[in-house]
Amino acid sequence: ESKKAHNFIQSLIEDAVAKGEHTGKVVTRFPPEPNGYLHIGHAKSICLNFGIAETFDGECTLRFDDTNPEKESQEYIDSIKKDVHWLGCEWSGEVRYASDYFDAIYDFAVELIEKGKAYVCALTADQMAEYRGTLKEPGQNSPYRDRPVEENLQLFRDMRAGKYQNGELVLRAKIDMTSPNINLRDPILYRIRYADHHQTGDKWCIYPMYDFTHPISDAMEGITHSLCTLEFEDHRPLYDWVLDNISAPCQPRQIEFARLNLNYTITSKRKLKRLVDEGFVDSWNDPRMPTISGMRRRGYTPESIRTFCDMIGVNKAGGTVDMGMLEHAIREDLNTRSPRAMCVMRPLKVTLTNYPEDKTETLVLPVHPQNPDMGEREVTWSQTLYIDREDFAEEPPRKWKRLAPDQAVRLRGGYVMTCREVIRDDSGEIVELKCEYDPNTLGVNPEGYKPNGVVHWVSATDSVETDINQYDRLFNHESPDSDKETDFVDLINPESLVVLKGARVEKSLAQPRTDLPYQFEREGYFFCDQELTAAAGRPVFNRTVTLRDSWGK
Ligand code: ATP
Ligand code: MG
Ligand code: MG
Repeated sequence: ESKKAHNFIQSLIEDAVAKGEHTGKVVTRFPPEPNGYLHIGHAKSICLNFGIAETFDGECTLRFDDTNPEKESQEYIDSIKKDVHWLGCEWSGEVRYASDYFDAIYDFAVELIEKGKAYVCALTADQMAEYRGTLKEPGQNSPYRDRPVEENLQLFRDMRAGKYQNGELVLRAKIDMTSPNINLRDPILYRIRYADHHQTGDKWCIYPMYDFTHPISDAMEGITHSLCTLEFEDHRPLYDWVLDNISAPCQPRQIEFARLNLNYTITSKRKLKRLVDEGFVDSWNDPRMPTISGMRRRGYTPESIRTFCDMIGVNKAGGTVDMGMLEHAIREDLNTRSPRAMCVMRPLKVTLTNYPEDKTETLVLPVHPQNPDMGEREVTWSQTLYIDREDFAEEPPRKWKRLAPDQAVRLRGGYVMTCREVIRDDSGEIVELKCEYDPNTLGVNPEGYKPNGVVHWVSATDSVETDINQYDRLFNHESPDSDKETDFVDLINPESLVVLKGARVEKSLAQPRTDLPYQFEREGYFFCDQELTAAAGRPVFNRTVTLRDSWGK
């Protein structure tokens, strides 16, 4: 087992356990709202919540925070379950929904009304904003604040019974309109929404607010530590107020940590949804998206994402993490695990003038040069081969390490050959190289001359045609959503996808494996796209990441 880095939340719980302040099981939860697909930011929260539970031999639940029915859907629920599972996390028991607790939450609202701690308010949204005051000015009490308990109970029942329209009435907590914390200025607990809910259908036309739902859901599930992002720090007094003022089954503790922000991308479901809805990307699982499903399709492994989350740690202070760290994590993982293969991206025909037309040879190469356990693969040597156009230069620059007229290169795992003639078509484009191979160079150096370098290649006879999606960063800009003046969609990298048709891979990839990306030697890591492969009738590969970080250089 890998040694997980210690984080401040873990230390905090360890302290509480040592001092006897915390006894019993540690229970955490991952509480996504099913209003989009999970992204890399959620992975941080997943690793933290499931990680803490694992460290303390506790439990972590998966709960859908489903209080905004109009924005939520079963599609999102299904994708979230799949992604959490794929990351290797197992939630305890059945999946939970905040909507499972709607009856209980309603009863707790009634309890607050009965205790004189909540009231039904008829101010309009605009009026309410005015009464709320500002950071500098205290708010003012609503004229409805002192309604008698009986009247509040009746109005709340009528709200539930559908006797009022959207927005006509709300239920508010009676806390303190002069509090310096605006969240405590009589926050709304319930609002009217005539909307079908994916779990509860048309049972309800009133829905509890997040700030009321969350502490109650946590308490219902016996959550001991409710980990959330920093923007909820100011809501913690309200979280505690709710639990202090209802007969809560237990008293969870809210602890905040910094959100993950990654440069060159965005981590907001709302904005990611816009990319999908307006067609800037193909789908939520477009391999350019920072979604878990997009990363999976691109070739990211769960291990690499978990390693990345360990690397960035958990902090109280915010900040932006470099995309290079995420790319480093996947490169490291794939470098040790990926099978090797050769793919010629831009094929240029090579004819070996001194090799018989009807002859072929089978050459055996390791699947992984450092790991013999991964076995061997076969490639075919024949008269006609392909190399990459970019590995030939008619007038080579200084220090050229590839092929040029009258120069020799080794073909990886094969023989050394020397270029003797360049063939052009009518338009002057180079269409073929006539080369001479040296039959005494398989696995040994040639005598009397030195090859210029090693290039990859495939045989014309049994390589397979393929299409390559060369993905790059989705945005050109380091923080695409930071500038208020610029719409982030205007900062999309126009070269975030470059499609190369007619590349050729060695024959062992006719049926590519779908569990791990390959390393295409000298090119990068590439993962078979199952959807696109089925549609194209030939293998389609997505570039996961290049071999080295060349971005911005
Ligand atoms: P978004 O703005 O993308 O909708 P959210 O916080 O509203 O994010 P939720 O579905 O409510 O999304 O998130 C579920 C959990 O994941 C929450 O506990 C939330 O704090 C956490 N989370 C969401 N985004 C990030 C992030 N960028 N970094 C760390 N944790 C995150
Ligand atoms: Mg949320
Ligand atoms: Mg959100």
